[in-house]
Amino acid sequence: MEQRRLFKGKRTRTPVGDAIVRLSGVSKRYAGGTLALNDVSLEVRAGEFFSLLGPSGCGKTTLLRILAGFEEPDSGRVEIAGVDARGLPPYRRPVNMVFQNYALFPHMNVCANVAFGLRMKRVPEDELRQRVAWALELVDIEQLAQRRPHELSGGQRQRVALARALVNEPEVLLLDEPLGALDYKLRKQLQVELMNLQEELGITFVYVTHDQEEALVMSDRIAVMRAGRIEQLDFPEAIYERPATAFVAQFLGTSNLIRAAYAGERLLQTPLGKLRVARPVKTGERYLISIRPEKIRLSREPIHRENTVRVRVDDIIYTGAENQYLLEAAGTELVAYTLNSDIQEPGFEEFDYDEYVYAHLPAENLVVIDEPA
Ligand code: ATP
Repeated sequence: MEQRRLFKGKRTRTPVGDAIVRLSGVSKRYAGGTLALNDVSLEVRAGEFFSLLGPSGCGKTTLLRILAGFEEPDSGRVEIAGVDARGLPPYRRPVNMVFQNYALFPHMNVCANVAFGLRMKRVPEDELRQRVAWALELVDIEQLAQRRPHELSGGQRQRVALARALVNEPEVLLLDEPLGALDYKLRKQLQVELMNLQEELGITFVYVTHDQEEALVMSDRIAVMRAGRIEQLDFPEAIYERPATAFVAQFLGTSNLIRAAYAGERLLQTPLGKLRVARPVKTGERYLISIRPEKIRLSREPIHRENTVRVRVDDIIYTGAENQYLLEAAGTELVAYTLNSDIQEPGFEEFDYDEYVYAHLPAENLVVIDEPA
């Protein structure tokens, strides 16, 4: 890919470094009584692509607005770039925000929109022009400089909003569902562009989304939020492969959740029979087991191994790349995905409605969740 020159001649990739954003014990209750954030602590590292992921109303935007300085927390501490942010107005913070609805000034052309922040800061005209040209080039909209927002497509407007934020060279860019209003194809394209841009500039991104696939694809780390709290904060692979709670397992991708109770040191009793698990469990405790659909192995021939269950094929959904099997055993439903690979491949099998087959649930793919069923 062609390397763009950065305005300050910065190097192209800032390695992920020390914490640039620190939240400790942050809570926020709105006037109506909603507790939007409940004792949230987290650190975002410099140069990181950090996502806040969660369902509508879980507090993502509130957290972003607190970082931007549009809201003050009721309690807790917010530190940005080593400085206590309490009482600091938005324009004094080394951050800029990009909104889902672009929030452009309708009466100004693209150039004036992008230049606005610099004009407010009384940046000299020469430098201002150079910086605006740099920002427009960065997001590939030099040719649109004279247009007004109503003469632009949604994707182009979001590029203007990005340029308007980047022109200030913030240390942290806050993005609130920036691709939410765009159609699927454009979203995919802009996801890649945003990732490249972040890598080139080395700016820290704090990115809000409720789209789990977007978060998995784009982020260095993800904080999954629920009802004002962080449910799990980790690398995308860790969150997908080892969800800490039933909520995370179900919010990210599809998961089979199976009620389980202690039956031995690494053995759990479930409605499907006894299942061996990879980690020790405690006497008398109840658990949930989570297994991803693609981790279940199906076979027509008996599999003489532990953790094998005889199941009936209840339904089959063909999605192109996969066959999704809805399975039933002992009143429990399971979903298993098999890759729709070449029929010539060894081991390739397709199953029929109502057929009884063997489902192997490998112990290493069973995630044991400490939650009462
Ligand atoms: P979405 O994905 O829908 O944007 P979100 O995760 O960003 O949701 P927030 O916008 O942070 O959630 O809202 C968290 C909670 O606080 C919600 O219950 C919301 O209704 C409430 N809330 C947000 N802003 C205000 C406000 N200005 N006054 C009162 N309640 C608010």
